[in-house]
Amino acid sequence: MKKYQCPDCSYIYDEAVGHEHEGYEPGTRFEDLPEDFACPACFVREKEDFVPLESDSITSDCAKNKNSVVRSLKK
Ligand SMILES: [Zn+2]
Repeated sequence: MKKYQCPDCSYIYDEAVGHEHEGYEPGTRFEDLPEDFACPACFVREKEDFVPLESDSITSDCAKNKNSVVRSLKK
C-alpha cells in the first residue's frame, strides 16, 4: 500500500485507509481513484498533482543522505 500527499495542504491519501467520507473504501488503490478525484482537504489539487510518498525503508535512506549533506556543508 502506498501513500500520496497533496502538495498544497499536506493531506495524505493512504491506500490502506482510503477516504470513506468520499466513498473510497480502505484498500482503494490510488490508481483506482476516479480521474476527477480532488484533494478531500483543500479541493484545490487533483489526482495528478499528488506526490507519491516513499516507503519507510527509503525514508531512512533519505535521512542518511541528509546526514551526508550536513557533513559536506561543514567543510
Ligand atoms: Zn490538499
